[in-house]
This record gives sequence, structure tokens and C-alpha cells, in this order.
Amino acid sequence: MLIIENPANGSIITQLQEDDAQSISAKYRAARKAQPAWAATPLATRLDALRRFRDALTRDVDELAAVLTSETGKPIRQAKNEIRGLPARIDFFLASTEAAVAAREVHDVAGMRERISHEPLGVIANVSAWNYPYFVGGNVFAPALLTGNAVLYKPSELAALTGLQIGKRLHESGVPTDIFSVVIGGGTAGAELIKQPVDGVFFTGSYATGQRIAREIGPRMVKLQLELGGKDPIYVREDVDVASAAASLADGAMYNAGQSCCSVERIYVQQTIYEDFVTAFVKEVEGFKIGAPASEATYIGPITRAPQIDVLEQQVADAVGKGAKLLLGGARLQQPGNWFPPTVLSHVNHSMEVMREESFGPIIGIQKVANDDEAVRLMNDTKYGLTAGVYTTDERRANAILAQLRAGSVYWNCCDRVSPRLPWSGVGQSGIGLTLSTYGIETFTRPKAWHLQKM
Ligand code: NAD
Repeated sequence: MLIIENPANGSIITQLQEDDAQSISAKYRAARKAQPAWAATPLATRLDALRRFRDALTRDVDELAAVLTSETGKPIRQAKNEIRGLPARIDFFLASTEAAVAAREVHDVAGMRERISHEPLGVIANVSAWNYPYFVGGNVFAPALLTGNAVLYKPSELAALTGLQIGKRLHESGVPTDIFSVVIGGGTAGAELIKQPVDGVFFTGSYATGQRIAREIGPRMVKLQLELGGKDPIYVREDVDVASAAASLADGAMYNAGQSCCSVERIYVQQTIYEDFVTAFVKEVEGFKIGAPASEATYIGPITRAPQIDVLEQQVADAVGKGAKLLLGGARLQQPGNWFPPTVLSHVNHSMEVMREESFGPIIGIQKVANDDEAVRLMNDTKYGLTAGVYTTDERRANAILAQLRAGSVYWNCCDRVSPRLPWSGVGQSGIGLTLSTYGIETFTRPKAWHLQKM
């Protein structure tokens, strides 16, 4: 049985029957059998189903947010923001799928025509993370379903109730039960799922698990996408308004208790404004309300995955041992549940884990830099490459800096931002493949090349 706990107080919410090898194989076989008919339905039918799902999210936001908050500890306002955010992404997919996968003639000369068509991959596995289950799940299952695939969706064991809610709403909206199956369980169920002869594996989670999946999938020549972690940096130049940059970056670092793949995890500040920026940043973070996630006033809730607190405490000890100044937080709160307060470290450097390893929690290191060149060098000194950005009033300098950053997404005067119109991808250990944008629709299809010669 999978025990679902409330991370805010450690109480047991419920238990779920976990899928095993047999039930996963049965779900796979049913999906395989049902997929050709789903692919053969008119696109309009699939669009209608996803449109109804989108409307159900909006209609049921309070009920869905309560479930998400109970099992992940995400503050209720942030849970509602997430659920209200998915319809905008679905709208993009609804508006863009037809054109993105339409067959197109690319050549017609002397009786020889060439055409590209897009066929669904078939049956795909969607193994998902818990931190934004609606977003990271929806980025995969919405375009995959629209393009005619069957989806075996394994929500994280830490967001399993939400996964079941998503499944229920999709089925009520007209997606056949065998076309979208929810697989319940943790790593064992995930490993069993990707052993099935699926046509694609779309994974969101940690680098460590992504690497294990890549080892399993590599020799099978199956399409593989891995959306993994980050250690996302921002550089603050001396020409900014310090208070507003600090406010924006404090939110970028601490929203969802820093448990976002694109949270700001490192800040580099030009030396002339370093002390002022650190003071303004600390003041901003001190204003964040920590508390019960069910309260509308709460900004910082508990840590969802209990063992992550050990990682955070270790990063603080390592940094302080090497000369960092601990300005806020730093140790778990002694109360039921998984609580770690917002933590700010200044005078950090790249010998410290907090500037090198993903924290995935409410902790930030702020480092002093002399100039743009040093900032760019340090921002690129990472094995990850999800997002990176710069705060400055000088657009020309911003563009020059962004062009040098090795990251899937780059930001000017903003951070921790995802757009359905832009591809979401990573460099290095942040993963391979992408979701979102029209590329993130095509990725669920196999382009087929037609060579057509008139006799
Ligand atoms: P995780 O790697 O622990 O788990 C992710 C999923 O993989 C879960 O569903 C889990 O049950 C499953 N799993 C575990 N072992 C498996 C195995 N051997 N085979 C198959 N499946 C297995 O990650 P998490 O703690 O759920 O998520 C946090 C991580 O996800 C962070 O590193 C974060 O940065 C990353 N993330 C990345 C993005 C992105 O878009 N790049 C988005 C959200 C989260």
C-alpha cells in the first residue's frame, strides 16, 4: 500500500493500492489496443475532450487545490495559481496542435513531390515529479493526447491523489479510460512502467533518476525525454533599482518553498551594490509568512519530501564551515511535519555545495562579483543549464550577457517563469528533449517523409 502523508503535520491522509508488474502490464496492453482508434478519431473530438478538461480544472479549482495542498504542503494560494495556470497552457495546445502536426508539402518540382506528415508515437509513459504536478504532467499528457497517443501517467508517489484527480477529470471529459491510465506507486512502479514496450518515455524528476532511466531506455532505441534539475543563477548589475530586484528575486527563490526546477538558486551581485542588495533581500524574505498551507495568508509551507531537509542542513553546514555568513534560517523547525525556514547565505563562493548542487528548498546563496565577465563565468560554472538571467536597466548589455549563457531559458529582469509559447528545455544535467511551444507538440509525433513521383 502507498501511504499518503500530510507533510505539514505528518498525519496519514489515506492509503492507496499500488500498481504492480501485473496491473501495469495490463494497463499497457489495454492502452496499446485502444490507441489506434483514438488516433483515428477526428482531431476535433480530441480537442473537445481537452477543452472540457480545461473547463473542469477551472470549475473544480477549490476541490483540486485542497487535495494538492494536503499531500504536497503547497500553500493553498500557490496550489490554486498552479491549477488556474494549466488552462492557459491547454489553450495554447488547443490553438496550435492542428497547424503544428498538419501534413505539409515541402517540394514539388518536375513531377516529384515531397511531404512531411506527423504520426503519433503510440503508447507513451509519462513519469512525473510532485512539485508542479499539473504543469509538468500537463506539459506532456495534454499534447500527447491531442496528437493521438495513449498515455500511461505515473504521478509522483508524493502527488498520487492529484494524479487520480487528473485521471478522473480527463475520463469525465471524454478521454477513454484505456487511453489515459494512472499508475500508482513510487520508484518500483516507475521502473516497472518503463520496462513495458512503450514508444516513448517522458520523464520529469531528478538527475539521479533520469540517469537510471536513460540507462534502461538507451539500448531499446525508444524516444526519451528527460526534464531534470537545475541550479539556476541570476546576475544583478549595479544599475538596477535594488529594492525591486530584491523583491522579484526573493519571490523567485522562495516561491513554493524553493521547490521549483527553475527556482533561483544562485544570485551574483555586482560589488558596488552587494551589501545594499543583501540587506534588501533579507528584509523581503523576513516578510514571507510561514505557516499552515491551508491558510490563504501562507507563503511558505512545509518541505514536501522529508529527506530533502538533510540536504538543506548539510548545504548550510558546508557553506558556514567554509566562511559563508548565515543571515536567516539554517536549521529545521522542531515541530511536527517537514519544516525548514527560508535561509539566506551571503559571502558564498563556488567551493560550497550551496552554489554547486541543486538545493530544491528555500535556501539561497548570494555571491559578490566584480563585473559582467566574472558573473557570466560563474553562472556557466555548473553541470546544469535550465534557466539563467540578468537584472539590469541596460538592454544592450542584457542581450550580450544572455547570449553567452548556457541554459535552455534566459531571462531579462524576470525569473522562475515558464511560457507555453516557448520551448522548455535544459542543457547538460538539466536534461534532453523539451516540452511546450510547437516543438513540444511535434515531439509526441514521428515525422514521416513521403517521396511521391508521378509515373
Ligand atoms: P524523482 O527523480 O525522485 O522522481 C520523479 C519520478 O520518478 C517519480 O514519479 C518517481 O516515483 C519516479 N521514479 C523514481 N525512481 C524511478 C525509477 N527507477 N524508474 C522510473 N521511475 C522512477 O524526482 P522528484 O523528487 O519527484 O522531483 C524533483 C526533481 O524534479 C528536482 O530535481 C527538480 O528540479 C526536477 N524537476 C524538473 C522539472 C523540469 O521541467 N526540468 C520540473 C519539475 C521538477
